[in-house]
Amino acid sequence: MDIDKLVRKNIKDLIPYRSARDDFKKGTLLDANENALGSPIKSDLELNRYPDPYQEELRDQIAWYRRVEAKNIFLGVGSDEAIDLLIRIFCQPGEESIMITPPTYGMYKVSANINDVAIQEVQLTADFQLDVEKTLAAVSDKTKIIFLCSPNNPTGNSLKKEDLLSIVNGFQGIVVVDEAYVDFSSQASMATEVVQHPNLVVMQTLSKAFGLAGIRLGIAIADDRIINYMLKVKAPYNINKLTAKAALDAFNNLEQVEEFVKDLVAERNWLTDELLKFEAVSKVYPSDANFVLAIVDDALNVYKKLAEKGVIIRYRGNQPGCENGLRISVGTPEENAKLILTLNDIMK
Ligand code: PMP
Repeated sequence: MDIDKLVRKNIKDLIPYRSARDDFKKGTLLDANENALGSPIKSDLELNRYPDPYQEELRDQIAWYRRVEAKNIFLGVGSDEAIDLLIRIFCQPGEESIMITPPTYGMYKVSANINDVAIQEVQLTADFQLDVEKTLAAVSDKTKIIFLCSPNNPTGNSLKKEDLLSIVNGFQGIVVVDEAYVDFSSQASMATEVVQHPNLVVMQTLSKAFGLAGIRLGIAIADDRIINYMLKVKAPYNINKLTAKAALDAFNNLEQVEEFVKDLVAERNWLTDELLKFEAVSKVYPSDANFVLAIVDDALNVYKKLAEKGVIIRYRGNQPGCENGLRISVGTPEENAKLILTLNDIMK
């Protein structure tokens, strides 16, 4: 597939900003108008100096972890940055469109709206899987990106790998598979598939299983031609030194991440069992993520009453196929017990 042909002309022609650190990283650095005297914060990170614009050390680390090459890795300020950049690279505002498969994560639509890019929608099936035929049939010559989310937010299930690959193989544009929750899933990541599929972008994040939502680090994994466009368009120093250091430290403590996943999955199962004991709960969808979608009588009211009592969840009943749906993040054992006790109060 000719990726270059899919890219907006102005992006293809763009002469990117060259940052001072592109050419020289060492020496008497009088090139970037930094404060040479230092910073008011004690740190070994030389915070008075700009960070590596291409985050080479961290990209190497993540490439090792996901079994791809560093040239296949883009790092963004959360995966939300990657969503926005992909739309800006591939979709001509006012002319072209993305496709989403509701119910799904809300930012694809918001980013498209910000960029004046149209949105086509093909709903997931009743069991929240892809309708491959219908999705591919809905593609027009204006459709540039299909955003798929697996495990899906807000439903929690993984999309079938063979369906994901059918869309990747059947679509002459970019297919994004958002794997924000993949570490909680028994279904393997699609990351290594990018080598054979130049139109596939796999997105991940350190905000979920890694427990680092506060540092804002998102990952896009793709063919290096796509990654190079993302690097070309991003803000010059988008990943700051504090974030890069925290992320590198996390990769030195992967046992902790594994333990988080084990504990959260166990809590998710406990929470599911407890929720199903309520008469008002007609369904809790099996989840591959760190949240569950429960169908609850009078869900909006339950959501509001929980909030009044200080327990905050998300009402998803207005998403297609999710009538009376509540999305509940798995918390600590104490928080989960508090949720169940508070629901007992409300629904008795
Ligand atoms: N994708 C999905 C499916 C999400 O649920 C979220 C966060 N709620 C994100 C992406 C954004 O993640 P990040 O914190 O990396 O911006």
